[in-house]
Order: sequence, then structure tokens, then C-alpha cells
Amino acid sequence: MEVLQNVKPRVYKFGGKQAEGNSKMKNLLGGKGANLAEMSAIGIPVPPGFTITTEVCTEYNLLGKEKVVEMILHDVESSIENIETLMGTKFGDKENPLLVSVRSGARVSMPGMMDTVLNLGMNDDVVLGLVKKTNNEQFAWDSYRRFIQMYGSVVLGMKPASKEDIDPFEEIMENLKEKRKIELDTEFTIQDLKDLVFDFKVAVKKNTGHDFPTNPWEQLWGAIVAVFNSWNGNRAVYYRNMHGYPADWGTAVNVQAMVYGNMSENSGTGVCFTRDAGTGENVFNGEYLINAQGEDVVSGVRTPQQITKLGSKRWAELAKVEEEDRLENYPSLEELMPSIFKELNSYQNTLEKHYRDMQDMEFTMQDGKLWILQTRNGKRTGAAMVKIAIDLLKEGMIDEKEALLIVEPNKLDELLHPIFDLKALKKANVIAQGLPASPGAATGKIVFFADEANKYKSSILVRIETSPEDLEGMNIAKGILTARGGMTSHAAVVARGMGKCCISGAGALKINYKKRTLTVGDHEYHEGDWISLNGSTGNIIEGKVATMEPGLSGEFAELMKLSDKYSVMKVRTNADSPKDAKIARSFGAQGIGLTRTEHMFFELDRIKAMREMILSETVKGRKQALEDLLPMQREDFEGIFEAMQGFPVTIRLLDPPLHEFVPHQLATQKDLAEDMHITLQAVKSKVSELEEFNPMLGHRGCRLGNTYPEITEMQTRAIIEAALNLKEKGIICKPEIMVPLVGTVKEYEFQEEIIRTTAATIFDERNNTIEFSVGTMIEIPRAALMADKIAEKADFFSFGTNDLTQMTFGYSRDDAGKFLPIYLEKGILKVDPFEVLDQEGVGQLIILGTERGRSTKPNLKVGICGEHGGEPSSIEFCYNVGMDYVSCSPYRVPIARLVSAQATIKSIE
Ligand code: ADP
Ligand code: MG
Ligand code: MG
Repeated sequence: MEVLQNVKPRVYKFGGKQAEGNSKMKNLLGGKGANLAEMSAIGIPVPPGFTITTEVCTEYNLLGKEKVVEMILHDVESSIENIETLMGTKFGDKENPLLVSVRSGARVSMPGMMDTVLNLGMNDDVVLGLVKKTNNEQFAWDSYRRFIQMYGSVVLGMKPASKEDIDPFEEIMENLKEKRKIELDTEFTIQDLKDLVFDFKVAVKKNTGHDFPTNPWEQLWGAIVAVFNSWNGNRAVYYRNMHGYPADWGTAVNVQAMVYGNMSENSGTGVCFTRDAGTGENVFNGEYLINAQGEDVVSGVRTPQQITKLGSKRWAELAKVEEEDRLENYPSLEELMPSIFKELNSYQNTLEKHYRDMQDMEFTMQDGKLWILQTRNGKRTGAAMVKIAIDLLKEGMIDEKEALLIVEPNKLDELLHPIFDLKALKKANVIAQGLPASPGAATGKIVFFADEANKYKSSILVRIETSPEDLEGMNIAKGILTARGGMTSHAAVVARGMGKCCISGAGALKINYKKRTLTVGDHEYHEGDWISLNGSTGNIIEGKVATMEPGLSGEFAELMKLSDKYSVMKVRTNADSPKDAKIARSFGAQGIGLTRTEHMFFELDRIKAMREMILSETVKGRKQALEDLLPMQREDFEGIFEAMQGFPVTIRLLDPPLHEFVPHQLATQKDLAEDMHITLQAVKSKVSELEEFNPMLGHRGCRLGNTYPEITEMQTRAIIEAALNLKEKGIICKPEIMVPLVGTVKEYEFQEEIIRTTAATIFDERNNTIEFSVGTMIEIPRAALMADKIAEKADFFSFGTNDLTQMTFGYSRDDAGKFLPIYLEKGILKVDPFEVLDQEGVGQLIILGTERGRSTKPNLKVGICGEHGGEPSSIEFCYNVGMDYVSCSPYRVPIARLVSAQATIKSIE
């Protein structure tokens, strides 16, 4: 007996207030198809049609055209019949023809997907039938020329001859317009349109070697297959990879009866939003064009008109159009066709209530009858997103949990950084692109060296890559641009921490430090030239672009309050200075999860003492230099503790290899030799002595504190004394001293011993005590494995996932730029593990480390302080692991607070 295979239908019909699918079936029917079905079922006038499922697309990729056509032939034929019945027309008929559109639609809206083909089913006979039926020759021939044009480029692949050329069909039309001395498509005469159809067909024959297909069924199958193929087209693949959408999702195909916006002056087409997608304001808005079809509104061939009277008046003001002129030439739909407007307004209300979110809709009017062609949750700016969520909540349309879930965490970023003026951006000349490492907008003059960042009032630091030595300059510069490095490169990490705009890894840049030039292609830029960075897109722009301050709306604060109501896991910040700590507090951080002490050593007067310490050959010499550093470090801690207002502060002991602190430029080496009264040669040989083959696996972390215990001693002293000083002023603080890069229990024990002994000595000296804890980072795989033993000693764990990722994969973060991009391109890796926590692999070590740690110390405090602490999917993972907190850069704190709440809500549901 034959086994029933795949009983799930492959084709779903909709139309006539009925539908086989619904809006919940987005994975199977694609977003567009699912919503067309839903709209049909709830009585919105949608032209009837059918959806071929995304699974058929996958089958097509496996089995090929012939097999798949055979599988769906019957369903497609009967679905076309269904449309014919509902519309009272016939596909391919010479008297009363049905024309259809063929539309792609993946489960998420994808700009990289195939373009739509309209008016399919047309040929030399059908066009005459359409003329007869509508008594409108202009319309019929306009539809025919549009069809050949779309089918020709989308299905038959007609392309411009080279990138300097224009589309072959556009070229033919432009030539005719020139000859006829007209400007708009709507000015073509019937004869012009007939000529265009003829010329288009000739062009197709010449270009493809085949006659334009006249059989409507052949056209239909051609278009369906073209939609399937588009799923693996370059544009779609690129977009999919960018967002990590898997290849096996596939796209659905929607075939739908045409309704004609180009039929008369009583017809038209438009796009509308139930709320303002830019600001979130609750005003219905949109644009339309009379006597137009499809994308005419968005393509800019004619100036579209506003749908509402309010919108029209606002537009006229901006466009400096007089009221009389506006009413005559650009009336709103509300004024021009009040009854259609009323109907459209009622649908937008219905749909927004139904979907309980802002909708982006397409509509077409055919001879005074309104049709809705698409609805979807509208794309919006970060500001609009927050306002809409809070407004919908207040309006009672959604509940608190839904309001929190509707907000896309990463988009909150937009609210936290200055942004470019959108109008200015449109005119911008983008010269190259890099990774959008830290969002925001920056405009300034090019400088190539950190110590020259203050040369201009606004500067952009352009480097091949940055190093800790550049910190101060990075802080001064308005933005940072590097040719090398990824999303977790030094430049990127530091910039994000500073909330500073940064583009990293812009491979097209050739930087010549000697000549102080930046070359892109054949254009050379010099120091002092203006340049702008769009840190949100990675676009590098020539010249100045105007910026504007984003407004932190009241709704934003409301959203944060709501997040805290639901979140269980706390959010701390990574902050190295009182300034960062204050910013993070203002963003609601509940403590510091990571203070990197080394950054404090890079400021001018300190780096000198630090270098002297490193260059000392004796313990005595080192201690002397450390003594100089002590008061500075203590002062920093006081500032940080004070800014954190009693919240816990985790301070990590010195971590990076000493090599990073010594000067590498001759001039600075000379200065240092002079200061220390030693020879230049001595400085040089020490510098080269510190050089390591594998600095990341070298003399760093607790290995420093264990070989130079006096460093740990000094740092502990600075921390404890700072806390005592504040205590005496009546300010509470809770230091948590963190030992980095522990791999064995002994390594930790040795450090803890020094810390506790030093603290005890100070308590004696001061005759006063404070509470503090000592814990460790878990960032070496061995530490995760030994977690139960380590937890017997340590008060807390903090997963340092930057190093843990690096060591688990065995990828040096600083060298990964050479192969990671290729791995991503080839799909060897799905995402950059330094950006998104590798839950599958590295995640195992985190789960295991937490479990083992808590097996010996059930109340062990566990957190994360790697860059992943600010990345939504990783934060959710941390919640599920049972972490007490995540720690991230100050500017990501609001995002983490939201995700923490979302994770809690998702885990209950
Ligand atoms: P996209 O996904 O790029 O928006 P669509 O499939 O929505 O592409 O279609 C592009 C344009 O064609 C839209 O303006 C849409 O409203 C219009 N359109 C699609 N199908 C029809 C139809 N059956 N009748 C009239 N216009 C249509
Ligand atoms: Mg659309
Ligand atoms: Mg580390």
C-alpha cells in the first residue's frame, strides 16, 4: 500500500471573505500570504488569490521544476478557477480576461527578495479583450507595457548592459519621452503605449534570444519558478546571511487577482501607516497617487499626495506649497475622495486593533472601489518603537508583558546616541563601508594619531587599528574608524564602552601613516579633511553631515520602569571611570560587573609610573613605582564607588600583558630613558624582552599578580583604602575583588591570600573594617571544569566570555579578522562568536561551570562580564543559566534591562 506522503496542503486559497490560512501561519505561507489570508477571513476586501507554501520552495530546490510543477499543478489550476469564479473573469480569455500578480513573500519581510510581477496573463489577444471589456484603451495598453517590463526584468533577467547603463526598458521609454517632449509616464498616448509594447518585445527577443511568452500559463509558471529562484539569488542570500536567516526557510509565492489603480482618474494606489513610523505619534498617515499602479508611489516617478488632510497640510508647509495650489494639485485623499478615505480609515483601525500593533498597509482603488493588498507590522525607528509600545499599553490594546515583548532590544540603541539628520543622510556621499561597531553619528576632521586628536575641535581618529595607548585620543575624538579588526576589536570594545561612534574593519581603506593619507579606491584624503561616520550602518561618508540629538522620551523611562518590574536577573555595567559609572547609573545599572584597572594606567602621568614599574629590575624599584600609582588608583576607586551609590562594584586586578604598557615609538622611548636615567638601549631591550609569541596566552592575568605579588598588594590597598575613606565619609560601598585568568585552584589561592592579608593589615592600620568579597573570572576552559574546587574558595564567579570564547575556539581575537569573515561567508560559522555567545559550545562550559560551582557553594554569585553581556540572545541565555546578573557597557544597560525582563516573561509562558 502506498504511504501517504506530506499530507499538508501545498497551496492555500484566500478571497471572498474566506481563507484556508491565517496570520499564525507565517512560516508556511510567508508574512504576506498569512496576512492576506487573515484579512480575507475577517472581511477586509482583498483581491482573491492563493499562496504556494514555503515548503514547496524547499522541495523545488531539491527536486527541480518539473517534479514540483507536477506536484502542485492540480492545486494551482483549481485555485485559478476559484479566482475566476470570485472575480467573474477568465485567465487568458479574449473577452473577459483575468490578470494576476505574482508576489514573493518569505516569513519575514526581505528587501532582497524578488520584485513583483503585475498584470500577468497578458498577450496581444488579451489586451484587446481588456480594451473591449473596460472600454479603456489607454489603461489596457499601459497595463500591457508594464507587464512586459516587469516580466522582462524579473523573470527573463533583462538587465542594463553595464552598471553605467540604465535598464533597457527605461531607455526605450526615455527615448520616446524625449522624442515626444513629455516628462511623465502618464502622458503617453495610446499609440505611444502600443509602440512601447512592440519595442519592448523586440528588445526581449534581441536580449534573450526568445520571443516574449504569449501563453498565460507559461507566463505563470515562469513567474512562480522565478520567485523560487530568487530565494537563492545574490541579493536574498546576502540579506539572509546578514540576519542569520537559514537557507531552508524558503519563500512562498502569492498569486492574486489584479485590481487596477491605473484604470481612471477615479483609481489609484497608495501606502499607509496606522501610526507615524518615525515618531510613533498616533496619527494615521500615508501617500497615494491617482491613476497609478504598484510601486509608482514609492518609486518617485511622480510626487505622491498625502492621505489625510492633516498630513497634506504638514507636507505643503515643508514643500512650501501654497494652500490654493495644494488643494488644486495635491489634495489629500480625505478631501478628494471622502468616502474611500472613510472606508480606508475604518480598515486601518480594524487592522491595528486586530494585529494589536502599528500596521503598514498597501491599497488600490479601482474605479471607486477600495482594495487592501497588504498589511504587516510596520517597520519603525527606535523612538517610534518605544512610544508605540507604551501608547498601545495605555490604550489597553496590549498588556504589560506584550508591551515589553514588542520592543526590539537592539533598536533601543538608536535612542542613546546622537544621530544624523535623515535628510542630510539622503544626500550623503558614501565612500566605503565597515562594520557598524558602535552606533551613532560622528563628523570631524581626519587625524591619524591618537595624540593628535585634539588638533581639531572635532576629529575622527582613523587608524589601521587602535591599541590601549590610544585610549585618551579615542576619548577626545568624535568617532573612530579602523581599517582592521572586528566587532570586538579594541577600537570597537572601547568605543562602545564610551558610547562613541565607531566603524571598524573597513577593509577598503588604505592608510599611510607616513604620508598621513587615507586612500579609498583612487581617491586620497588628507589629515584635516572632513569625514563622517554612520556607526549604525557602517557607512563612511565624505565631508560633513549634520547631526541631531535624539530625544530620550518619557516613554523610554516608562519602558525601563516596566522592565525592572518583570526582570529577575540584574544588570550591571562595565565601567572603568567615575564618568562611565555615572552614565551607567543614569541608565539604571545596579552595580559594576567589571572595572578594568589597567585603563586607569594609560592616562598621561600614570603611564609613566607604570612604565617605571615595569622597567624596574628589582622588587624595590617596582614597589617604589607602585607607590606612585597607589594614590591615583585609590582616587579613581573612590570616584567609582561614590558614583555607584552603594551598589556592588567588581574590580578586576591587572590583566593585560605588560608589553601593552611600554612605549613602542622611538621618541617616547627616549623620553622614558631620560626620565629613568637609563640608556635608550636599556629601554629598547626591555621592550623586546617583553615581546611574546602569544601574548594572549602569555604573561598576563593572575600570572602577573603571582609573579609580581606587589602589584596585587598595591591594587588591593587602593581598593580597601578607598572603601574605608568613603566609609568614614558615611558612604557605603561593596568592593568585590576579582582575580583574572585563573586556571588552577592554586593560582586563585595564592592571589586570595595576598588580598586577604593585605586587607587585614589595612584594617589593623586604620582600626576600621569594611565588607568585601573575593572571587574570580571564569575565562579559561580549565577553570570552568574545576569550578567546584574553585568555588570552595571564591565568593563569586564572573564569566569572561571574550577570553572564554577565544580559548574555547582557539581563535585569537586579534587575528580572527583574517579568517572569520571568510568563515561567515562560507557558512562554516553562522555568526561571529565574539559578538553572539556560542551557546552550543562555549555555553556548555558556562552551564557546567555554574552547576559545578554551585554544587559546592549553593549561593555562589554568578555573572557575566564579556561583551556578550550586552547582546540580547546571549543575555537571555544567561538568564536561563540562572545567572544573578549580566554586565555590559553603560550604553547597553537599558537594552540588557529590557532583555532581562523579556527573558523572564518568555520563561513563564
Ligand atoms: P513588495 O513585497 O516589494 O512590497 P508586493 O508584492 O507587495 O511587493 O507588490 C509590489 C506592488 O504591487 C505593491 O504596491 C502592491 O500593492 C502591488 N500589487 C501587488 N499585487 C497586486 C494586485 N493583485 N493588484 C494590484 N496591485 C498589486
Ligand atoms: Mg508590498
Ligand atoms: Mg579576560
